[in-house]
Formats: sequence, C-alpha cells, structure tokens
Amino acid sequence: MKKLLVLSFVAIAAIVIVTKSVSSANKVYNSGFVNQSDSFYCKAADFSKQDVSASEEKELLYMREEEKMAHDVYSMMYDKWGLRPFSNIMGAEERHMAAIKSMIDKYALTDPTKDVKTGAFTNTEIKKLYAGLLEQGNISELDALKAGAEIEEVDIKDLIQAIKDTDNNDIKFVYNNLLNASGNHLRAFMRNIERRGGIYIPKHLDKKTFEEILND
Ligand code: MN
Ligand code: MN
Repeated sequence: MKKLLVLSFVAIAAIVIVTKSVSSANKVYNSGFVNQSDSFYCKAADFSKQDVSASEEKELLYMREEEKMAHDVYSMMYDKWGLRPFSNIMGAEERHMAAIKSMIDKYALTDPTKDVKTGAFTNTEIKKLYAGLLEQGNISELDALKAGAEIEEVDIKDLIQAIKDTDNNDIKFVYNNLLNASGNHLRAFMRNIERRGGIYIPKHLDKKTFEEILND
C-alpha cells in the first residue's frame, strides 16, 4: 500500500512537471508570432550569451545562406511567374535571414552573405541547390511551386537537425520560429500545387513527418 502511494505520488509529480514544461515551451514558441512579424529575433537577442561551438557556428552560417537561397529562388520565381505565394513568402525569408544574422552578430561571427546579389552564395552546396531549383522552377508554374515545396522540405529537415545540435536557448528560439514558418510555407505551396491538380511527393522528409506538418 505504501509502495502504491509513493508510486502514485511520483506519477502525479511527473504529470505536473511535463504539463508545466510543455506549457512554458509553447509560451516561448508562440510569443514570437503573437507579436508583430519580425519581433521574434529581437526577443532572441534578449537571451543571455552562451558559448557557440564550432558546429553551432557552422550551422548558423549555413542556415543564413539557406534562408537566402529560399529568398533568392522565390524572388526569381515571382519575377518569372508573378504568383502571389512567391512574393508573400519571399518577405518572410528576408526576415528569417535577418533573424539568423542577429545571432551571427551577437556572437561576432563572420557573415557568409557578403554579396546580397541574387544567386550569390559562399557555400558551394547551397549554390548548387539554388541552380538546380531555379532550373526546375523555370519549366512551369507547377514546377516552380514544387521547387518551393522542396525548399521548405530541406529547410525543415535542416532546422530540425540544427535544433537538435544546439544547446543555446537564443539559437533554438530563432530556429523554432523559422521551423514554424517553414511549416506554413510548405502548406501554402502544397495548397497551390493541389489546386492546379499537381502531386508532390516528399523528397527529403520521411512520410510521417511530412504528413504531420501538412495536418498541423
Ligand atoms: Mn525560411
Ligand atoms: Mn520558407
């Protein structure tokens, strides 16, 4: 009987702890979006400084250029096809670039985006990705929207990994907000693809994760 009492006490304590941490995580996660558009990276700058490891630095610099890649492809696609989702999402990507830049500045890292010109990248992997997606996007409206879905998939995959790889609360905060936005973008591209009778099969995320994001 005593054992049972102790066990139920432990169970209740565990429930309380889990509920509390979930609600506080939601608070942090949502607060960036309850407020106006780009206030979330200002908030991230309010966190205290933590050491940035070599791998955290590498991922920040990579994400900065990955957000630029998304922005640049969407900008080219808007020029080519004039579709609303590209112009809308393009603006968001610019804010994402700025959000990562705020972390680069905070930790006095060297920004890889020296050249703001469309299609200019330091990272060769990203440069290749950009070229391939642009080629695809120039084929047709539907192919352009599929390129958009693919960009968001890559972004989501990389952000999930980057969140796992960092223990910095400020960087995690920024990545989580970007991840949330990427889910919105992916759903927007999927709606536009389906409206045109197109089919998009995930190329980078596993089916389960992909479905979860679409149903979010
Ligand atoms: Mn983004
Ligand atoms: Mn996006």
